[in-house]
Parts: sequence; structure tokens; C-alpha cells
Amino acid sequence: MKPSPFAYIKARTLKQAVTLLAKHKDDARLLAGGQSLIATLNMRLSAPEVLIDINGIKGLDGIAKKGKFVEIGALARHTQVECSDIISKHAPLIALAMPHIGHPAIRNRGTFGGSIAFADPAAELPACILALDGEINIAGPNGKRKVKADAFFKGLFETALRPQEIVTAVRIPAADRSTRVGFSELARRHGDYAIVGLAASARVNGQGLAGVRLAFFGVGATPVRAKKAEAALVAGNIDAAVDALDLEPHDDVQATAKVKKHLAGVLLRRVAKQLLEARL
Ligand SMILES: Cc1cc2nc3c(=O)[nH]c(=O)nc-3n(C[C@H](O)[C@H](O)[C@H](O)COP(=O)(O)OP(=O)(O)OC[C@H]3O[C@@H](n4cnc5c(N)ncnc54)[C@H](O)[C@@H]3O)c2cc1C
Repeated sequence: MKPSPFAYIKARTLKQAVTLLAKHKDDARLLAGGQSLIATLNMRLSAPEVLIDINGIKGLDGIAKKGKFVEIGALARHTQVECSDIISKHAPLIALAMPHIGHPAIRNRGTFGGSIAFADPAAELPACILALDGEINIAGPNGKRKVKADAFFKGLFETALRPQEIVTAVRIPAADRSTRVGFSELARRHGDYAIVGLAASARVNGQGLAGVRLAFFGVGATPVRAKKAEAALVAGNIDAAVDALDLEPHDDVQATAKVKKHLAGVLLRRVAKQLLEARL
């Protein structure tokens, strides 16, 4: 299928993109890497009258360590993030997740901000940002604001973004010597969206763990934290963490709820080992 006809405007500045969004309102969509948007247009799941291409906006594709944080620009391509020394050194959870996103051709175009804004419940990056207690930087007609990941992912493909707002960057705490991360997912083939996945972070506390954050994906409308399991892992008990898994997945095209719950337990055991054994 081909998309419905649309007008195309290439925005040159953030201000211009925000002004265009304000002018065209619900008739407009932002175009970043196009790896999700173009498919929805081709399938006519979405038929905007105007596409506002943000790829020409300068300064939105940087990856930088800023003090105790790593900032990833919204237009950083997945490949750029995957190959970044800053990411491999200071954001090891993101580095673990990147190779699981689609295939090289998709990672060459898809953007970090696009993945966060699209908020696919089976996507890797929203779960990573949630596990890392990250923050989403947003620009809109009323200026700039920041939203913590805990409050950003609201529902199925639904975020805290208002209609005229643009994700400009994502900020996560830089890893230090006490940081532990873990990542695992089960997919039918490498590069497919996950049936179930788990991104996790924690801090070493003596022989145990503190600040455990477990963010599952593919098990609900948004990435989901399993808080009872987190508490059990802090107490050092992996079996208890699996028993306490507070997830309520639904059946979907990939697997039944029962299978997903079982797979979530399998992943939790794998990731708990990574958290307990890994050294930076
Ligand atoms: C075959 C295939 C397999 C894939 N597999 C995976 C996978 O395994 N895991 C995974 O996570 N993803 C997967 N993807 C999706 C890929 O990661 C996309 O790159 C990503 O979801 C969207 O990023 P994009 O830059 O392409 O955004 P686009 O497709 O350009 O935009 C997606 C949506 O986000 C909005 N948007 C984009 N950028 C911004 C912004 N800065 N601010 C506000 N709104 C914005 C757009 O308006 C649109 O509504 C796959 C895609 C394909 C085609």
C-alpha cells in the first residue's frame, strides 16, 4: 500500500518545527528516522496532512557526558549510539540493548528520540530509560521542560508529550564503579521486537545490591517496573524475586499471557545473575 497524500516541510530549526506543529496541530506528524512512522503511513494507520521533517535541525544528534549524566540527542541514530565510546563507557545498559533493535538498515536511520517518542511497548530503549531513571528533555511552544521516565510512558503508544512538543534529548545518570546493569530479551529471531525483555540497573552495596530497577518490556501497554521483584533482589533472593514477579501481561500475537509470565521469570534469573556478577 501507499500512504495518503501529504505535504512535506523540512524544518531547519527547533523553533520552526514547534511553530509548524502549532500551526498544523493534529494534521501534522514529525518525521525523524521514519522507521516506524513510514510503516504506519503505508498501512494507512495514520494519515497526516503534513510531515514535518526534523532531520535538518542542527545540534539534536549529539552524545555527550555532562558531569554525572550522559545526554543523547533525539536525532542520534541508533548506529551512532551503538558505536559511541561515550555510550560503551558511561551508559553500558544502552550499549547492551542497541544490537537488539531491528537490523543494521533500521539502526542506520532510526533515532533515539523517535524510539522514545513512539513508545512501542515492546521496544528496548523506553525500558532502558525507565531502568536508568532517565529524564526526557522536551521543547514546545511554552519553552523547555523535563519529564522523568517514570512519568513519561503513559499508555499504549501514549506519552506525556503534548501535541506541539518535540523530544530534544534524553539524559541518564552516567555509570560509575558502583553501577551494575543487566539486559536480556527473548525474540523469535534476533532483531525482531521482543516477546518479552528486561532492562535492569542497580548499585553495588557491600556484597549485595541497592537501588534495583527492573523494567520489563513486551508485557504491558508501557515498559513496566516489577517493584516487588526489585525489593526481593535487594534482599539477595533470586527465587523470591521470581515468585514475587508483579506483572500482568496480556495475550498478544507473539505469546499468551501465561507464556510471557514464564519467560519474564526466565529473563529475571538471567539478568539477576548479570547484576550480581558483572564488573564495570
Ligand atoms: C523492520 C523493523 C524492525 C524494527 N525492530 C525494532 C526493534 O526490535 N526494537 C525497537 O525498539 N524498534 C524497532 N524498530 C523501530 C525503530 O527502532 C525506529 O527507529 C523507532 O521506533 C522510531 O524511530 P524513528 O527515528 O524511525 O522515528 P519515526 O518513525 O520518524 O517517528 C516515530 C514517531 O515518533 C514521532 N517522533 C519522532 N521523533 C520525535 C521527536 N524527536 N519528538 C517527538 N516526536 C517524535 C513521530 O512523529 C512518529 O509519530 C523496527 C523498525 C522496523 C521497520
